[in-house]
Amino acid sequence: MTALRPARRMLDATADPNWVLEQRGARDDGRDSPFAISNGFLGVRGGGSIGGLPGKATPAETYVAGLFDIMRADEPVPTLVLASNWLRVGISLSAQASVHDVEDIPSRCRTLDFRRGALITESRPMDSPGFAVRSRTLRLVSLSRREVGLQLAQLDVERGAGEATLEAYFEGVGFGLEVERLEQDLGVWRTRSSGGRLAMAVAASLQVDGKVVVATAAGPCRWAWTWLMQPGQTILFERMVAVTREDAAAANLGVDARRQLGAARVLGSSGVVDEHEAGWARRWRESDVVVGGDTAAQVALRFALYHLNGAANPDDERVSIAARALTGSDYRGHVFWDTEIFLLPFYTLTWPEAARTLLMYRFHTLDAARAKARRLGWRGALYAWESAGTGEERTPEHAIGPVRQAVAILCGVQEQHISADIAYAVWNYWLTTGDDAFLREAGAEIILETARFWSSRAVPEADGRRHIRGVIGPDEYHETIDDNAFTNVMARWNIRRAIAVAAVLRQRWPACWAALSRRIGLEDEELREWAAVADAMATGLDPRTGLFEQFAGFFALETIDLASYEGRTVPMDVELGRERTKTAQVLKQADVVALLALLPDEFAAGAGDANYRYYEPRCSHGSSLSAAMHGLAAARLGRTEAALGFFRQTSAIDLAHTRGAADGGIHIAPLGGLWMMAVLGFAGLTIDDEGIGLDPQMPDEWQSLAFSVQWRGRHVSVSIDGVGLRILATLTSGAPMSVAVGATRHVLRQGAPLHIGIGSRLAPPRADECSKPAA
Ligand code: BGC
Ligand code: BGC
Repeated sequence: MTALRPARRMLDATADPNWVLEQRGARDDGRDSPFAISNGFLGVRGGGSIGGLPGKATPAETYVAGLFDIMRADEPVPTLVLASNWLRVGISLSAQASVHDVEDIPSRCRTLDFRRGALITESRPMDSPGFAVRSRTLRLVSLSRREVGLQLAQLDVERGAGEATLEAYFEGVGFGLEVERLEQDLGVWRTRSSGGRLAMAVAASLQVDGKVVVATAAGPCRWAWTWLMQPGQTILFERMVAVTREDAAAANLGVDARRQLGAARVLGSSGVVDEHEAGWARRWRESDVVVGGDTAAQVALRFALYHLNGAANPDDERVSIAARALTGSDYRGHVFWDTEIFLLPFYTLTWPEAARTLLMYRFHTLDAARAKARRLGWRGALYAWESAGTGEERTPEHAIGPVRQAVAILCGVQEQHISADIAYAVWNYWLTTGDDAFLREAGAEIILETARFWSSRAVPEADGRRHIRGVIGPDEYHETIDDNAFTNVMARWNIRRAIAVAAVLRQRWPACWAALSRRIGLEDEELREWAAVADAMATGLDPRTGLFEQFAGFFALETIDLASYEGRTVPMDVELGRERTKTAQVLKQADVVALLALLPDEFAAGAGDANYRYYEPRCSHGSSLSAAMHGLAAARLGRTEAALGFFRQTSAIDLAHTRGAADGGIHIAPLGGLWMMAVLGFAGLTIDDEGIGLDPQMPDEWQSLAFSVQWRGRHVSVSIDGVGLRILATLTSGAPMSVAVGATRHVLRQGAPLHIGIGSRLAPPRADECSKPAA
């Protein structure tokens, strides 16, 4: 390892409170997921470097994207496994028996530095009349070389002299992994059943007052250094790891991990830090959202952007983002519709490389989706409701219910809207980025095969309509329902987009169309059939009221006054019991409202608001995803204060820890939802073939809102002055494009920022508010 130099600068957290999440002492401990660091390949929870000490420190668990294994015989579902905890380090004195964590929990201040993408701690591991040591630590997983993790600790001895030992080691093996090789600088493990392998190469060093100390004991991934501790000493500990995920069939055990570690060591810790910070600086340049006048919203957005930017890895098409990203064990590391519906808008508009990679994961799992459709008797592609490494259906078939009863989970078979959700993300990615190569090589096939699924799934009946029976919509409280409006309308949209994609390919790239249609056996007659299916799709729309019935028979169910349950401590389905919930107009989460947020064009003038008014009071928000969808819909309807309420509820999920006692990981979909509410909601951003549209409806508290997006290779910055009611749009790169505000399209050119007035912020919601195109 290169010579250590003063770590001061590296150990300093950003001073601006808008860029950090801070926590002092043991109070509120056990909340390690918000403090997680992640780079889309490695995720390390914010636990201490030694677990199980007084103060209830939990260890800093590490996840590796894509490393799944079956852990329990009674639950044959692949689960994201834990890698070895590589951050363990403790200090002890020969005169005393106890080992002190260098991140002493009771005295610790931990600071998650969003700007630098690092977790920094300060504590007093020793603080007695005889000995006083101050400790500062930093940990990061590099955004510039994702295999690499770095841990630094600086100990300043204030008082006391005596022989001291610092010990650094890996904590054993992750659950479910088998050791293949353990050496001083390398550990290699194999998963038991999934054919995966994990290698971790490591180097560690210690300096006292600038002099390298030679280790007194060593073992596999373990070091100990002993020296005479004296007042005024500065001790610097440094550890670097390189982690790789491999195929267990590959021959060269750990070679790649060692190579990656070697390259990082050549850079040295300060080089690794610099490179990592440059990576974060770029992400912040491209994705930051700045809110004036609402500090809490600003911090919530930065927290969200920090986790969103840390959740994706544009270099790995074999993984997607789990419901808890790489920060916790809830939902086993599985991928849901959360990614396409709540996260893809952010990535598509600020980090198209990451968006493309996430959609390529769905392309690589298309065969598994085809197999699932076939197995259930349909054509085309039905994606897994819960997906892991291979794309096969991974939803567990049972769960333990609130009164410890076994509950059958039907989502893996019935929650089929996932297929349309993926098509939706593919289309919007293409519309926004103009990435034709992606459409030709992957996107078109996804949209066509999902459309084919829906065309076989929607069955003609005597009434002349096509029906989709026996599904679960986003509101999972009602199962085995018929004609879920969300599912059917999204399916119809999916089919129509497929017909459009076929036309685009045929016209623009005829050879590509010929090859693709031949390969998937798609003839013109089938396309005509699809058009007929779409036209005949039952949707539950009552043309008189403009209301969509959430599913056939929903309006006849018992009405429950949710307001009278205010203050309840359990979800509504527990409060009412599952059986009664099924027969009541009580929703787990946005369903028709989600449709309104995603496809506002499907709602006639005024109908968006009518549906919102009908369904919002019936929703119990039993899912963390719910408030964000309501907030987005409300913001677009001009119901700004209600939208701000949903924004705040969504912010509180991880920051105020409002969803239950367990700390099973951050809720990444709601964090994507915060960005959606700000940019697609309050700024009213929309996308079309000419450029972007803006229709700001800002809460009174928000004096300004600024953000950047990318549209077809251009970088655009938008700044909305909520007080002066003006928009400033700047094109920082790329050819001219259009910015539409109200009915006017403006041409935006580099070097010629646009200043556009936006009229009174007190204007009441307009009746046609809901008929804008989706972003
Ligand atoms: C929600 C789903 C969501 C899943 C993972 C469930 O509670 O109902 O919509 O996909 O959590 O976040
Ligand atoms: C979620 C489902 C999920 C199931 C099993 C439920 O709580 O609502 O979306 O499939 O858990 O993981």
